[in-house]
Amino acid sequence: MLAVLRLSHRVFRDKRISTHLALTARAFGADEFYYTGEHDSHLEESVERMCNEWGGNTKVEHIESPWGFIEQWKNSGGTIVHLTMYGIDLTDKLFELKQKEKLLIVVGGVKVPGAIYELTDYNIAIGNQPHSEVAALGIFLDQISDSKARKKRFENAKNVITPSEDGKKMEKIE
Ligand code: SAM
Repeated sequence: MLAVLRLSHRVFRDKRISTHLALTARAFGADEFYYTGEHDSHLEESVERMCNEWGGNTKVEHIESPWGFIEQWKNSGGTIVHLTMYGIDLTDKLFELKQKEKLLIVVGGVKVPGAIYELTDYNIAIGNQPHSEVAALGIFLDQISDSKARKKRFENAKNVITPSEDGKKMEKIE
C-alpha cells in the first residue's frame, strides 16, 4: 500500500503542481493521495476525470491536519517517509524501504513545519539539491517499484496507448 500526503496546498498558487503531484502518484503506482491546506474540488475533479479516461481508481482526499493523520498511519503499522533535500539519499535507504508494506510519502510545498522532520520515520533526499516535489515523488515511486509501476496497465481505461516510435497510437475503448 502506497499513499502520498501533500502538505499545505494553496488553491490559487499550487493548483497545477498539486494536480501534477496527484497524477504522478496515480501513474507511478500510489493507491491514495491526501492533501492538507485549502480544500480544492478542482484538483479532486481533475484526478477523477483522468481516472475515468485513463483508468485506475486513485483516491484523492482533503484532510484538515497532518498530525492526527500521521499518528494514525503509524499506529496502523505504516511507515512515514518525508521527501526533503535535507534527508539521506534514497540510494542509501532504498533496500530498507522496499521491505515496508505500507508507506506514506509526505511531500512539502511552502515551508514544512520542523515537527514533520521529527515525526516521520525517514527523511529521504532525491539528491541534496532543491528541485521539485513532482520530480522527487516521481523518482521515489519509480525506484521503490524497480520501474515496474509506470509500466502497469490500468483497469477500466477508455484510452489505451500502443507505444510507438513515430507518432501517437491510441485506442478508444467504449
Ligand atoms: N526546502 C525544501 C526541501 O526541504 O526539500 C525544498 C522546497 S520544494 C519547493 C517543495 C518540496 O519538494 C519539498 O518540501 C520536498 O518534499 C520536495 N523536494 C524538493 N527538492 C527535493 C530533494 N532534493 N529531495 C527530496 N525532496 C525534494
